[in-house]
Amino acid sequence: MTQVFHRHCHSDLPFATRGEGAYIYDQSGKAYLDASGGAAVSCLGHNHAGVRAALHAQIDQLAYAHSSFFTTEVAENLASRLTDKAPGSLNHVYFVSGGSEAVESALKLARQYFVETGEPQRTRFIARRQSYHGNTLGALAVGGNAWRRAPFSPLLMPAEHIAPCYPYRDQQPDESLHDYGQRVANELEQRLLTVGPETVIAFIAEPVVGATAGALAPVEGYYKRIREICDRYGILLILDEVMCGMGRTGTLFAHEQDGIEADLVTIAKGLGAGYQPIGAMLASDRIYDAISEGSGFFQHGHTYMAHATAMAGSLAVMDAFEKDGVLARVAPMGEALDQRLRNRFGDHPHVGDIRGRGLFQALELVHNRDSKKPFDSRSKLDKRIKAEAMQLGLMCYPMAGTIDGQRGHHILLAPPFIINEEQLDELTDKLYQAVDKITREAL
Ligand code: PLP
Repeated sequence: MTQVFHRHCHSDLPFATRGEGAYIYDQSGKAYLDASGGAAVSCLGHNHAGVRAALHAQIDQLAYAHSSFFTTEVAENLASRLTDKAPGSLNHVYFVSGGSEAVESALKLARQYFVETGEPQRTRFIARRQSYHGNTLGALAVGGNAWRRAPFSPLLMPAEHIAPCYPYRDQQPDESLHDYGQRVANELEQRLLTVGPETVIAFIAEPVVGATAGALAPVEGYYKRIREICDRYGILLILDEVMCGMGRTGTLFAHEQDGIEADLVTIAKGLGAGYQPIGAMLASDRIYDAISEGSGFFQHGHTYMAHATAMAGSLAVMDAFEKDGVLARVAPMGEALDQRLRNRFGDHPHVGDIRGRGLFQALELVHNRDSKKPFDSRSKLDKRIKAEAMQLGLMCYPMAGTIDGQRGHHILLAPPFIINEEQLDELTDKLYQAVDKITREAL
């Protein structure tokens, strides 16, 4: 509780006073290597000169103009930069202030699309277990994170959940990765046929799952099959790239690597790199045109949409990605991180899986490597590893997911794209100390 409510000085957290590059410093001057980008946000590291200058310049000119009165050059430029790079016909951008807002927008726009195209009986969403789409009620309803949903379940709209693509846990011994991917993708078709495909609006998924499963990338062919099923039954595909998008996996959009096109895509965290709160929904021509030719108005909106200062900050983030070559660092530095994790943790008795794409990597922790049995949730492994790592001056993102109804644990790593080899060594050393100590104690 004290960690999130702010009032007087009851918090037991250190005070973050300054940031520089890959580090945040507290009030005592202690440095913390930001190996998780906070929650996969700070992709440029801290105190980036280009972003700072762009923010100052924008505030000096105009901080904010309400989006129903004006557009701004920065908003139009940012929209063009994103749509020029987006796969398929994602040519329309709706700017909001964060990830949950982007997901809410996508859910509502998908529903409105069917209302306006004469299929108002479509009222359901299908999502996956072990997914996280945000904490507002709509996003929480589609999310598959059991413990986050539990207290609010009577308030949540009904949503269907199918299996995630999770080979470490679910691939059968005699099954190829490809066959496994097809099998779990086919669960979408089975569920559609059970509930009636004509009642379903969309399937929503994170291309690479972040917080609830730890950098879980799909197997080859999985999303192609998902797309085929969506097309066959006329449902929309919403890809939630709030965490895995904006270069985190090595390409601007994670799903570029899966060779598919989406109807709606959400992005947030890396878009603002932590310099301003911002999120966005990208919509395809099909969706946009239907609404334009119908009511002409998306029935949604928030006060701070397309906030000029946030737009300017994100444009500077994209400049750094492209002009300074920051995005091009993600794939090689991701490989360097993966190598280090494998060298260091490959034989660790409590590290069951090492996985990820680009600078989005995770360790899955297990009580027993052979049986893959997770640690008991009462071990509070996630909180203890986080605290130990902070003691050592390392920010990592340990989480308790859900495995077979039991809570399992993984540690998510999402360092800034500017991280260097020496800092990767520091990351791996400190992470090893924290994981080794706490997993031994938890036995
Ligand atoms: N979607 C995904 C995939 C996320 O990882 C998150 C946040 O972690 C959200 C949505 C919600 O974003 P926000 O916390 O900015 O509302």
